[in-house]
Amino acid sequence: MYRLSKEELKNIIKLDPYHKDRQSPTDAEVRLFLREVDYHCPLCGKELQYRDQIKPEQKLFEIAHIYPNSPTVEQYVNFKGLRRLGKNCESYENKIALCKECHPTQDFHTTAQEYIQLVEIKEKCLLESELNAATRDLYLEDQIELILTKLSCVQDEELSELSFEPKYLKNKFYINEVSIKRKIKNYVVEYYPFIRDILKEMDGKNGFHQNILAEQIRSCFIKINDKTQDKEIIFQHLVQWIKNKTLCSSNIACEIIVSFFVQNCEVFYEISE
Ligand SMILES: [Zn+2]
Repeated sequence: MYRLSKEELKNIIKLDPYHKDRQSPTDAEVRLFLREVDYHCPLCGKELQYRDQIKPEQKLFEIAHIYPNSPTVEQYVNFKGLRRLGKNCESYENKIALCKECHPTQDFHTTAQEYIQLVEIKEKCLLESELNAATRDLYLEDQIELILTKLSCVQDEELSELSFEPKYLKNKFYINEVSIKRKIKNYVVEYYPFIRDILKEMDGKNGFHQNILAEQIRSCFIKINDKTQDKEIIFQHLVQWIKNKTLCSSNIACEIIVSFFVQNCEVFYEISE
C-alpha cells in the first residue's frame, strides 16, 4: 500500500488553505473557551478552574486544536474528508478547552471516531452560543416575575384542588421523546390551571396583556427552533432565557412556566402526520 511521506504531507498542507500558522488565543477567547465547556473538561469531566489557583502555571487546562495544526501522516489520512470546524485550523471554532491530562492524548489521537467525538462536542458548544446570540435581545414582560413569585410560595392544597388533563401534548412529541414529554406533562398536570388563573387575573391590568407575553415566548421559541429541533435543548434554552431575563433563581419555576406555554401551544409545533 502506498504511504504518504512526511515531505509530501508538508507540501499538501502548504497548499491547503485550512492550514495556518499557530496563533495563541486571546484572554477573552480563553474565558469563552472555559465558559462554553462550563469549566469542566468535556472529555473526562475534570474541573478546569478552581478558586485556589493563583499562579498561571497552576492552570489545569489547555486550549487544544480539534483538527490538528500540524497533523501527522496518520492523522491526515484518517481525517481526510471529515468535516472541519471554522475557516481554518486557528479559528475559534476549531479550538476547545481540555484538561492537561486529556490534551496530550487528544493531540495524538488518530482515529476518525475520536476526532468526530470532539467535533460533535464543540458543535454543541457553538450551538449554545448561537442560541444565546439569537435570543439575547428578545423582550420579556417584567410581570412574568409575578408568576414566578407566586409559584415560589404556592401551597399544596391550592394545586390539588385543580386537576387538568393535558390534551395537546401528545401531538407534539415523537415516540422517542419520552423523557422530555413526561417532564412537561407532569408540570402541566400540576400547574397549568394555577398559572392560567394567575394570567387571567393579571390580564389587562397595569399594562399587562397575556397575549403579548405569549407572543414573546413564541418568538423566542421560533428563534431557537431555527437553530435546533432537539426539544430538550429548546426547552432548556427557554428555561435559561427566562432565568436570565428575570434573574429568577429557581430552575423549576422557569421549567413550570415553559411547560405551561407548551400546553398553551406557543412552544413546539404540532407534528403533522
Ligand atoms: Zn480531561
